[in-house]
Amino acid sequence: MGECPICAAEINVADDAIAGEVLVCEDCGGELELTGIDPVTLAEAPSAEEDWGQ
Ligand SMILES: [Zn+2]
Repeated sequence: MGECPICAAEINVADDAIAGEVLVCEDCGGELELTGIDPVTLAEAPSAEEDWGQ
């Protein structure tokens, strides 16, 4: 288990997750990068500003 750095919700991290993996917080929808697995540390992933051609 990790903790969302944005909203502090619990993030379920898989046992076989690897550092660098990007997870999405189900609570706030934020993208989180798994920066470490022992212990689990999460950081807010840099938001790629995508232009969806609106
Ligand atoms: Zn969150």
